[in-house]
Amino acid sequence: MYSERINNLPPYLFAAIDKAKAGVIEKGVDVIDLGVGDPDMPTPDNVIQALYRSAQNPNRHQYPSYTGMLSFREVAAKWYKEHLGIELDPVSQVLTLIGSKEGIAHIPLAFINPGEIALVPDPAYPVYKIGTLFADGKPFIMPLLEENGFLPDLDAIPKDVAKLAKLMFLNYPNNPTSAIAPEKFFEDVIEFAKENEVIIVHDNAYSEMTFDGYKAPSFLEFDGAMDVGIEMHSLSKTYNMTGWRIGFAVGNAEILDGLGRVKTNIDSGAFEAVQEAGIEAMQGPQQCISDMNKLYTQRRDALMVGLKELGIDVQPPKATFYVWAPVPEGYDSMGLSKVLLEEAGIVATPGVGFGDYGEGYVRFSLTRSVERINEAVERMGQLKI
Ligand SMILES: *Cc1c(COP(=O)(O)O)cnc(C)c1O
Repeated sequence: MYSERINNLPPYLFAAIDKAKAGVIEKGVDVIDLGVGDPDMPTPDNVIQALYRSAQNPNRHQYPSYTGMLSFREVAAKWYKEHLGIELDPVSQVLTLIGSKEGIAHIPLAFINPGEIALVPDPAYPVYKIGTLFADGKPFIMPLLEENGFLPDLDAIPKDVAKLAKLMFLNYPNNPTSAIAPEKFFEDVIEFAKENEVIIVHDNAYSEMTFDGYKAPSFLEFDGAMDVGIEMHSLSKTYNMTGWRIGFAVGNAEILDGLGRVKTNIDSGAFEAVQEAGIEAMQGPQQCISDMNKLYTQRRDALMVGLKELGIDVQPPKATFYVWAPVPEGYDSMGLSKVLLEEAGIVATPGVGFGDYGEGYVRFSLTRSVERINEAVERMGQLKI
């Protein structure tokens, strides 16, 4: 009944985790869920109020334009200048998205012919690979190995593959490894892109979620980036707005135009009241960002104590609300997740859920309070591993 593209989807591991979690909850266990990459804190009130005001305006009730409201794109351009130091033309270099996942899933349709290659990191946000498969493209896996700082080894990509590749997906600060990329890496990527005529799609969902004085760059700040790529951005993580479905893509106008042509034929843009709420998020007080980062730092440090208890040695991440922890001897990632859930009531995501190269790790999300994380840590201390 289903198409091959549906039948060939890799098994959705997270559904299995949800099921296991539900089973444990049913037994009456007080489960601490450190599995979800979804902020637990509410959207700032000024943003909610802006939605409320905008929704009352009948002019906002009709079909939006697929490129997004000019006012939203102007504010997004201004925000990029203020936060990341990039000059953008709001008309040609900014495109509103219904969440950045939408843009990531759609972009292969604009550039990949059947059988053509997209270079996809592993472990990774699953949408890069799935979006490529949905466009009948071939994902070529770039392993993210700890010994390389979880950066792809561009020299390890075979020459013929590089020549055939149309797209490369990257994401730093990274989900799930929480790795950050040095400037030199982005420079190498741009050189690779020029040499092989590959479009770079950099997913910068976590640019604002940084700690200990680290500041994440935009891919677009490096020489030549604007010629070869675009950056996906999202309000989801920065302003606790995952449910609102609002993001945007910035960068090379011709590439954005390709994505826009897909969008105009598939969706009809983001609800304008949500765009106006997004304007408020980007234009209003920005204190919420540093407040959240302070909170995530406290949570991260609390979790570090627990991982030590388990004998897991991991550096505190400088960005993202994830901790990517190597599993102790004698476990694989599913095995450790199972023990954590069944014996300690803690949900952690097994690394294999993000690809084969995620094996040997579990991902903890810092999306629960310090109190709950401390409780998890106490339980970890009692685990016999
Ligand atoms: C959360 C996340 C996104 C954001 O998705 P939205 O669709 O904007 O909510 C994009 N990329 C990565 C890697 C993420 O973790």
